[in-house]
Amino acid sequence: MSSKSKKTKSAGRFGARYGKRPRTYLVLVEEKQRKKQKCPFCGKLGVKRLSKGVWKCRKCGKKFASDTYYLQ
Ligand SMILES: [Zn+2]
Repeated sequence: MSSKSKKTKSAGRFGARYGKRPRTYLVLVEEKQRKKQKCPFCGKLGVKRLSKGVWKCRKCGKKFASDTYYLQ
C-alpha cells in the first residue's frame, strides 16, 4: 500500500473531497497541461505553462498568453 491511489492520480491530494466527477475532470485537465505543448510560432513541442494562460516556448523563447489550461 505504498502507492498513492493510482485511480485518483493528481486529484489524490484532495482526498475524498469534492466528489468523483470534478476530480476525474481535474485529472484530465492537469495531465494535459503538464505535457509539453506545441508552440504556435515554431511548431515544436517545447511550450510550458508558467501560470494561468501564460506560456513559454523553450525552443524559440517566445512567451505568450493563450488558453488557460492547455493549448490546442
Ligand atoms: Zn516556439
